[in-house]
Amino acid sequence: MSDVKAYAAQSETSGLAPFGFQPRAPRPDDVSIEIDYCGVCHTDIHFAQNDWGRTLYPVVPGHEIIGRVTAVGSDVSGFQVGDRVGVGCMVDSCRQCSSCEQGLEQYCREGMTPTYNGTDRHDGLRTYGGYSERIVVSDRFVVRVPEQLDPATAAPLLCAGITTYSPLKHFGVGPGHKVGVLGMGGLGHMGVKFARALGAEVTIFTRSESKVAEAKKQGADHVVVSTDPEQMAAVALNFDFLLDTIPVHHDLNPYLETLKVDGTHILVGMIEPIEPTVHSRNLISKRRILTGSLIGGMPETQEVLDFCAEHDIGCDIEMLDIHNINDAYERMKRGDVKYRFVIDMKSLKDA
Ligand code: ZN
Ligand code: ZN
Repeated sequence: MSDVKAYAAQSETSGLAPFGFQPRAPRPDDVSIEIDYCGVCHTDIHFAQNDWGRTLYPVVPGHEIIGRVTAVGSDVSGFQVGDRVGVGCMVDSCRQCSSCEQGLEQYCREGMTPTYNGTDRHDGLRTYGGYSERIVVSDRFVVRVPEQLDPATAAPLLCAGITTYSPLKHFGVGPGHKVGVLGMGGLGHMGVKFARALGAEVTIFTRSESKVAEAKKQGADHVVVSTDPEQMAAVALNFDFLLDTIPVHHDLNPYLETLKVDGTHILVGMIEPIEPTVHSRNLISKRRILTGSLIGGMPETQEVLDFCAEHDIGCDIEMLDIHNINDAYERMKRGDVKYRFVIDMKSLKDA
């Protein structure tokens, strides 16, 4: 088989450039997918630049993948050639631990196999992500994309979407609840759409007065400028849930004070360790819960796609040709995208 065309980073400073690799030999449970669209996640930048010190070069990023099935293995019954499908942040797990048995593969005791920068559990080969013409994935880690969804705006549902949908569902957000969304990037704007679709009253917290109009446009019922102490005081003891998508260090204490008794502050951005320190008083005095959530399992990833088809929800995207990916990374670092870049993979074929 000929090389698969892709884009890879070769080092911390190389940026992304064309790259070819041999696809793995398909196994009986495998689905072969021709990729049409791939969303660009902040995690992709972190791995391309080795921000977390565990990048295996060359790395082909991309874990918001939408494509069409081109072949299936002999054991695959749920997918057929031509089906529109998606692949998210993981492509395998142990499949035997209690988390895997519950369809919570993201919490696999042995650790999930990430879609890229991982090692295949069977053949030991590197996993390569969605900035690529094709991908081969075990059927358990492939989801069906309803035909009524626009495939490009659906791509970010595989990471940004499921990451915000899963905790809202897990904690039972629904009508009558007041939800605050912290951060208004790719994740935050999806959180607003989901919380509203689930029937909650939604407030966006933003640091800057200049973003208030955009927050309202995103469908928020209310906007709080978090740098204004008066506005923060006005929402003390107000919220049932906070969905915290801010990807950098920030003081949780002022936000905790906006939660009611038994209110829950959910972190989905990796900001470890939490600084400044969280005051125990802010938890104990009102029995508040501080928790976190990682993407979602495979059954719930299918659920979020079906939910979006039913409620006509898609991500707000800017389409990108793959040869502009390095510029796109620079723009994302400046927060200059509304709200997610999605690579049109035709641009890779034409390259
Ligand atoms: Zn992601
Ligand atoms: Zn497991």
